Amino acid sequence: MYQALVLRKDESFSVAKESLKDDDLPEGDVEVQVEYSTLNFKDALAITNTSPVVRKWPMVAGIDGAGVVTHSSHPNWKVGERFVHTGWGYGETRWGLLAERSRVQGAGLVHLPASLSTLQAMAIGTAGYTAMLCVMALEKHGLTPQKGEVLVTGASGGVGSVAIALLSQLGYQVCASTGKLSDSDYLKSLGAAQVMDRALLSEPGKPFQKERWAGVVDCVGSHTLANALSQCAYGASVAACGLAQGMDLPTTVMPFILRGVSLIGVDSVMAPMGLRQEAWARLSTQLNLDKLAQMTQVIALDEVVAKAHELRNGQIKGRLVVKVS
Ligand code: NDP
Repeated sequence: MYQALVLRKDESFSVAKESLKDDDLPEGDVEVQVEYSTLNFKDALAITNTSPVVRKWPMVAGIDGAGVVTHSSHPNWKVGERFVHTGWGYGETRWGLLAERSRVQGAGLVHLPASLSTLQAMAIGTAGYTAMLCVMALEKHGLTPQKGEVLVTGASGGVGSVAIALLSQLGYQVCASTGKLSDSDYLKSLGAAQVMDRALLSEPGKPFQKERWAGVVDCVGSHTLANALSQCAYGASVAACGLAQGMDLPTTVMPFILRGVSLIGVDSVMAPMGLRQEAWARLSTQLNLDKLAQMTQVIALDEVVAKAHELRNGQIKGRLVVKVS
């Protein structure tokens, strides 16, 4: 038997910790013990049933997990090796990893870098790995610390917190846009040089505004992303990964055709293995682990549902790690 957080939709939606049998394990060529999972924004949407994240029922929640291989018929994986898993539709169309045990596809797992514990891997999780993908995307478009200020929106959230820590470690001057001005000290301790009220970006603005940003990591979408684009300096790039304000993008072509601004989409779920391995290798050496610990709360499986509601309401700062087994 093993414990898992199970989402069901029969007559109505329900979520509960359940004891599942070995026979219930999903198909896969690698069997794992999950030590830690995490709560990302998408997990919160699924667990609170506020967005159609889950497309197969019943579903074990949890898009991420880290732990140890207990059985393998995949050539890349041996018993005892430590893995990190993110995305690939787990917790959406395949059973996820808010479970003590699971079976997964070996081809989708990343070997956990030696310098990271399974707890640290889940403190990073999809949110932190997405922050790294955003930084890599901006660098590929020519961003360097000498080019100027970088804006991070949704700053106190999981992606935002890790993006600030990473960018400041790499020598960038970071401006954190947040709705939690009372948490300015937290954002500065992660490495933000400046903190701005997100209200300055979240209302409809002019299509062409004073040039400010050399780069942007945007977790928010909607008017915030539109204003960030309108404030980009000549040749700047924007990595768009989120929709915390909304999935709309009410902008014009002006920043693109008059300032050569680049808007880069970032997806973590189906990102190819080479990009994942590069991101995890860089996270293991370039993310300050003291800052990671500072932004992380560890919770039990029993606390997940309550915390998912808080996360969904934008009340959590940083990252939530779930101790699974
Ligand atoms: P969190 O919930 O941890 O953080 C989101 C942050 O956005 C909040 O903390 C808050 O920060 C801000 N925010 C919340 N509501 C609003 C609002 N109405 N208007 C403006 N800002 C708001 O989520 P994550 O950091 O984990 O994820 C951020 C976004 O990125 C989500 O939309 C998520 O779905 C997306 N995402 C996408 C991925 C991809 O592969 N493309 C992977 C991971 C996440 P503050 O109070 O500081 O303003």
